[in-house]
Amino acid sequence: MIRTILTYPNPELKKKSAPVAAVTDLVRELVQDMAESMYAAPGVGLAAPQVGVHQRVIIIDVSGKNEPPDLIVAINPTIVHAEGEVCDEEGCLSVPDYAANVKRYARVIVKGLDLEGEERTWKAENLLAIAFQHEIDHLDGVLFVDHLSTLKRELFQRKARKAAEERR
Ligand SMILES: [Zn+2]
Repeated sequence: MIRTILTYPNPELKKKSAPVAAVTDLVRELVQDMAESMYAAPGVGLAAPQVGVHQRVIIIDVSGKNEPPDLIVAINPTIVHAEGEVCDEEGCLSVPDYAANVKRYARVIVKGLDLEGEERTWKAENLLAIAFQHEIDHLDGVLFVDHLSTLKRELFQRKARKAAEERR
């Protein structure tokens, strides 16, 4: 089932998500819905709070257009190591029609659980590393626009307010 993806400035996006106590069928159903919603959007990553569920669950698929899908599901993900630096353009399904450069670690090691509740370690670099950092941020109520300089963030907020007024 495709779920509605919440968009800025919905306050639900600012809330911190709680760890998943046990990987149950309910969690697997949530992940299934998240995957359908992400692929339909389309997007390369989605965190549970973006569909209004405040649990520490993220999904990522950074495979290219002509490659088979490669879905990563990370439950209770934590970054255990980070190094290097990249600055790349990011967007977000919760921040439509806006993209900006964000400084991130170039390489991260992430630990978490998979859909079977087994412990997993992901070594990621470049686009995948950025995606992990972006999605884990969502679990702490942080959007990529929160990483922008004050000036850039003010410009973004002005643009978002204007767009909201035009929709009215
Ligand atoms: Zn996002």
